[in-house]
Amino acid sequence: MLQQARVVIIGGGVIGCSVLYHLTKQGWTDVVLLERKELTAGSTWHAAGGFHTINGNANIARLQAYTCGIYKEIQELSGQDVGAHYVGGLLVAATNQRWEYLRAEHARHHVLGIESELLGPAEIKKLCSIMDTRDVIGAIYDPLEGYLDPSGATYAYAGAAKAAGATIYRHTMVEGLARRPGGEWEVRTNKGVIVAEHVVNAGGLWAREVGKMAGVDLPLVPMEHHYLITDDLPELNGLPEMPSIADLDGGLYLRQEHQGMLLGVYESNAVPWAVAGTPWDYAENELLIPDLDRLGEDLTRGFERYPAIASAGIKRIVNGPFTFSPDGNPLVGPVAGLPNYWVACGVMAGFVQGGGVGRSLAEWMVDGQPSVDVFGMDIARFDTRLPQSVTIARAREFYGRRFDIPYPNETWLAGRPYKTSPLYAAHEAKGAVFLSSFGFEAPAYFAPAGQPFQEQPTFRRSNAFDIIGAECRALRSAVGVVDLSAVSKFFVSGPDAEAFLRKVVASPLPSIGRTVPALLLSAAGRIIGDLNVGCRADGRYFLTAPTFMQAVYERCFLEHARNFDVTLRNATDELGALFVAGPRAVELIDALSAHYRIGTALKSGDLAEAAIGYAPCHVVASDRIGERGFELYTPNVHLEALYRQILITGRAFGVRDIGIRAFSTLVMEQAPGTTLREMSQDHTVAECGSHDLLDHERSDYVGHAAAMASLAHEPEFRLSALRVETLDADPVGEEPVWVGDRYVGYTTSGHYGHTVGYAMAMAFLNEEGRAPGASLEVSVLGERCRARIVTIPFPKLEPMTIELPELVTGQI
Ligand SMILES: Cc1cc2nc3c(=O)[nH]c(=O)nc-3n(C[C@H](O)[C@H](O)[C@H](O)COP(=O)(O)OP(=O)(O)OC[C@H]3O[C@@H](n4cnc5c(N)ncnc54)[C@H](O)[C@@H]3O)c2cc1C
Repeated sequence: MLQQARVVIIGGGVIGCSVLYHLTKQGWTDVVLLERKELTAGSTWHAAGGFHTINGNANIARLQAYTCGIYKEIQELSGQDVGAHYVGGLLVAATNQRWEYLRAEHARHHVLGIESELLGPAEIKKLCSIMDTRDVIGAIYDPLEGYLDPSGATYAYAGAAKAAGATIYRHTMVEGLARRPGGEWEVRTNKGVIVAEHVVNAGGLWAREVGKMAGVDLPLVPMEHHYLITDDLPELNGLPEMPSIADLDGGLYLRQEHQGMLLGVYESNAVPWAVAGTPWDYAENELLIPDLDRLGEDLTRGFERYPAIASAGIKRIVNGPFTFSPDGNPLVGPVAGLPNYWVACGVMAGFVQGGGVGRSLAEWMVDGQPSVDVFGMDIARFDTRLPQSVTIARAREFYGRRFDIPYPNETWLAGRPYKTSPLYAAHEAKGAVFLSSFGFEAPAYFAPAGQPFQEQPTFRRSNAFDIIGAECRALRSAVGVVDLSAVSKFFVSGPDAEAFLRKVVASPLPSIGRTVPALLLSAAGRIIGDLNVGCRADGRYFLTAPTFMQAVYERCFLEHARNFDVTLRNATDELGALFVAGPRAVELIDALSAHYRIGTALKSGDLAEAAIGYAPCHVVASDRIGERGFELYTPNVHLEALYRQILITGRAFGVRDIGIRAFSTLVMEQAPGTTLREMSQDHTVAECGSHDLLDHERSDYVGHAAAMASLAHEPEFRLSALRVETLDADPVGEEPVWVGDRYVGYTTSGHYGHTVGYAMAMAFLNEEGRAPGASLEVSVLGERCRARIVTIPFPKLEPMTIELPELVTGQI
């Protein structure tokens, strides 16, 4: 066995083999894969082998399309037949809501570059004669989809990698990992030690155990999953092979298997497996005991739509385990604080996502970042301290609701509350409806207290629309208080604090007592995200950033911090935060700091340490929503007292609670873009028009050269603000923008602007879309809505000018 390698991959399932292949494709051939048994010995061998493109996350859907297309390539390179059947795929709708969702999804396919079509019941029947289409409204047909032989595909990845120079050792069990003082990884196996620069955990069913070898707790859990294969159906005799089907309202997926059918169910009562850890002696080719009673209800629904299946005998039942993360998407990327330790696990659909996971991780390792933003599968989208009980609750919910319609206004409830602000109970008593971000509960809005309120999940304006509108107007007419405790907060101190930030942050650093909006760039000059950097009187820096980016930023800071004499403290859970804003905010803050009149004293962007009421606060004056505003950060022990004082003193100024949904709308009315929507690794500074945020005086920050190079070219797409004419459904992002039949761009975010009076969207548009007077249309829920470019901040709707006919004397 080799004693050294650039990369050691642990695990020879479809994911490990895909990572191996993609590393060779990126030019790294000194790569070794270790498999404890035979390749495919984990979840891989018993998969149903289906592949499709649909995913709620745009870039994961794009990467799924990439995966669907890669099988021909690896078959050719390896000479190994993958057994692919490109039969196409149908996503079937039998309710109006589902049909609305599919039409929106079909429009979104233009943005994703996926060529699909919408079919009516008669066309569906032609493709799938055994379906009773009486209740069916329609389907999306995607010709890229199909199924394959799981083992063939895994061996094809492995064969293509080996042909390019990679090495695979089977029956080689990794028993331990250690970091050497020089930073290399010592990989201890039953056959000896290999020293590697990089280690990849692709341990699949055993990824948790492999994680623990390096001290990492991975938020994932295996789940049991069944599929059945029927006897041959005479109804299929002589017909062309039918497409794979996800019968979303029927709750099952199915495809042809020779002359019979394979059908699988995501039952609502999902059953986790091996919660305490996957046994090392779980044998290759071992299956779990089937429990068809669990599937009864779902199967019965399915049989109604496919009566021929109901009368067919069952040839084979498979119940096997595979791993799930809390949101069902993979866990990929570098692990914070463990240099050169990478994960590629938690993949619940290895044949749908394996190519994309392998490509993204290989690009990350070789180039320093993936070529598309993969936040949706980045391990850092989760708090790695997430208790297993939360992971299990969320993974079970995801499994059971896998085919549910993903309404944009619905937040799922499992594993909540996990983290709460000290104001949680007080807000709950006031009718707060909460959303969860990075596990943190935040009031989304305040429903009328004392009355039961249930928001209807919908793609259109919901019954919370007027509540949110009232909150927006209340803030802009007096003063509002928003609980922003979930915001990420960091302190940076030490002799090299400034030098460290000069490296990490691409924007000018603030002087003492000031804050600045700033950008973090990747080495390739793309935007990781935005943050606010403040400098305290004692020279320590106080950083605030979007809630959900906490672990991404922390990982990025840690990566550079080791080269500086700097202390980094994540203070997110320690400090609460309230945002007080509105035309009367200055008066309120002055009243709460009577001796200093902080409200009057601070101008926008100032940072002060001061008592507000009796609470010691970092006060940041922020006009981010176009009103005078103050962010108040205080230790959680003071938060409730501060809140009470704001409410009591604020009564005279008309203060009221405002939720995050109103706050986000108000931010959008004013601001040019948000992290992950516009400010993401998919976009450059030039595309976002955010070069004003860069520090043009220096070149010592990460990504400088690449950012400058990108600024030298006119980008194809640029960010614009759109006013969209909508009736009862507003843009949410990822909608295509058209001029006539020509695709000219795509939206990245949208809200109804309650205080500007119309639907707003941010969109990346090409030159034709940006041309003065271009007659733009945005597909909202698949319907074309007229749109036009407006300035930022979004202007208030001008009063309608109604042209009256001239009065003729004597007419009245
Ligand atoms: C019933 C069922 C049906 C499915 N159908 C589909 C489908 O239709 N389409 C689809 O895309 N997905 C499907 N899946 C999911 C798919 O099987 C998984 O997503 C995929 O197999 C995950 O692959 P993996 O490589 O991550 O993990 P695994 O296949 O579990 O591979 C991990 C490998 O790592 C090895 N390993 C672990 N620890 C060590 C160690 N310490 N040293 C050396 N080697 C180690 C293991 O032996 C194993 O071979 C299905 C799953 C089930 C259960």
